Amino acid sequence: MADDVKDLKIIRWPDPRLKKKSEPVTAFDEDLRNLAARMLELMRECKGVGLAAPQVGVNIRLFVANPTGKPEDDKVYVNPILSDADGDEEGEEGCLSLPDINVKVTRPTAKVRMQARDLSGESFEQIGSGFITRIWQHENDHLNGILILDRMGAVAKLTYRKRLKELEEEYASQQAEEAKRKKRPPGAPRGTPLL
Ligand code: ZN
Repeated sequence: MADDVKDLKIIRWPDPRLKKKSEPVTAFDEDLRNLAARMLELMRECKGVGLAAPQVGVNIRLFVANPTGKPEDDKVYVNPILSDADGDEEGEEGCLSLPDINVKVTRPTAKVRMQARDLSGESFEQIGSGFITRIWQHENDHLNGILILDRMGAVAKLTYRKRLKELEEEYASQQAEEAKRKKRPPGAPRGTPLL
């Protein structure tokens, strides 16, 4: 887990951490609660309805969701398992890790069973239908390294070719920045020497 949870930010495609399969949570401790609180904060800031831990660079099986934006509807799902999905429906989805890309995705949304744990490790079960099940499935995909890009057709991929190229370039320049910062030898002066 990150040293300072407050520094966590939403990462963007093509960051390889978005393509990894995440590991189950085993410790229901303060670190986990802090991570979830920070994710809820980021989700709210970005006006999202869901956010998965790999989207902040932490590859564990946890996501947060809030379909209404009301604080009382904040919900944390740890080690979620989805089953009994039924009733395919097409709907548009965006992703905080793929800004300015909207994809029509067909998912079973009439009924989905969710089994998960809360932040204290207690298991719970919910039967959902409609919009919430789309959020669950989108976020659960993130835990398996699957993005809406993997669910879009050839035509949509072509439509967003330019945007994807931009995101690739942004990521490459970020990586170059990072490498430059790391190259600085230890102990070398950083800015004005204070003597
Ligand atoms: Zn997403």
